[in-house]
Amino acid sequence: MKRAVLICGAGIAGCCAAIALARSGWTVTLVEKQTAWRFQSSGIFVYGNGLARLHALGVMEEMVAAGFAIADGRNVYLDADGSSLFETFYPGRFDGLEVTPILGIRRAEMHRVLSGHLSRLGVEVALGCTVESIEQARSAVSAVLSDGRVVACDLLLGADGIRSRVRQLLWPDVQPRYSGFGVWRSVHDRPAGLGDKIMMMARGLRLGIMPISAQQLYLFGTVVEPVDAWYAREDWARLMQSRFSVFRGPAAHFLDELGPQSELLYTAVEEVLMPAAWHQGRVLLIGDAAHASTPFMGQGGAMAVEDAVVLARLLDRTTDIDRALERFSTVRSPACRFVQDASRQVGVSGARSDPQEHAGILDAMRTTAQARVDEFYARLEQLGFDHHQEETP
Ligand SMILES: Cc1cc2nc3c(=O)[nH]c(=O)nc-3n(C[C@H](O)[C@H](O)[C@H](O)COP(=O)(O)OP(=O)(O)OC[C@H]3O[C@@H](n4cnc5c(N)ncnc54)[C@H](O)[C@@H]3O)c2cc1C
Repeated sequence: MKRAVLICGAGIAGCCAAIALARSGWTVTLVEKQTAWRFQSSGIFVYGNGLARLHALGVMEEMVAAGFAIADGRNVYLDADGSSLFETFYPGRFDGLEVTPILGIRRAEMHRVLSGHLSRLGVEVALGCTVESIEQARSAVSAVLSDGRVVACDLLLGADGIRSRVRQLLWPDVQPRYSGFGVWRSVHDRPAGLGDKIMMMARGLRLGIMPISAQQLYLFGTVVEPVDAWYAREDWARLMQSRFSVFRGPAAHFLDELGPQSELLYTAVEEVLMPAAWHQGRVLLIGDAAHASTPFMGQGGAMAVEDAVVLARLLDRTTDIDRALERFSTVRSPACRFVQDASRQVGVSGARSDPQEHAGILDAMRTTAQARVDEFYARLEQLGFDHHQEETP
């Protein structure tokens, strides 16, 4: 008999899990609380490890075509004036596959590609719908949905992001933690000559520039913001300009043009540090619901895709769903915690505003930045699913 899964939340984790499990023959129901697709993000980078996982889902080529590929993996570091500091190169080979090392893509485009696959696979998507309550029996779970339906299934996935309703129902003590950082993002027309991923460094501030299509790029600036900082939307352009006004060079034109017409987003960054296990009975948390990270490594999306791929592989290999869920946390939590820790450290180091400390950090980065990138990806690969295969059920 076909196994059935209910997935709460149609972000990257939920859509990818729906694709992976539908391809493995599961009957998938996906519920999303928004009544129309809307994204709390302008652009996103997907690094090579995430693209390799999107390849496993059969969606990588379309994703690359819908975004902007940094084919040589080059990340250019500049000081606040725009003078060159150093460069790093991101890897483009994962799982024995040559992939684009860095892809910039609009979040809406990413979703367009994923939702096209959902329709082709016949996944039922209920917009404007959420899980109201959950009941578990021995090897089954049932959920009451906000549209009044009761859905009985073999597995329920909470893929509903940082403020997960599913997590709140089953793990009420786990709360997101404010990271101390705010991220300011804006979308701009891309000048034809600007095709690099750029990271600009000033004391206590970072400002990135990343192409997301042939026509557009986005700016992302990170800065320490007070707890509970709230800013009225009409002030965002002025505030982003004033926070990052020290940045000139290639950023100057984009910061200067910010105004009421700009596409802007302010996000107070939170983390979810949830100890494994990430399941209770037949309810499992994936993506940001289980392990939201600060964005300094640009890995949250990739981790969400990897959750989906690993879960489907574990479930494909066994009829014992409970055992597969146990293995899931064992395999995924060290990798996700590693990303969270590495990302937090990068954020903390970038926030140092003392002039001497800042100069020291730049000096150290000049000689160690490439080694750190290489070490990060080597460690991530060691912590990846493929290194656990022999132990899988
Ligand atoms: C400022 C910032 C920049 C980032 N940049 C990058 C980057 O460059 N690269 C990268 O890989 N990652 C990045 N990330 C992280 C990345 O955005 C997340 O890790 C990723 O979106 C997680 O996907 P998800 O599906 O788990 O959660 P989400 O994307 O949050 O999706 C959750 C979905 O569930 C829905 N939902 C919520 N509650 C309910 C409910 N009760 N019922 C039903 N549905 C519900 C939501 O509407 C949403 O559609 C960034 C994060 C931040 C904050």
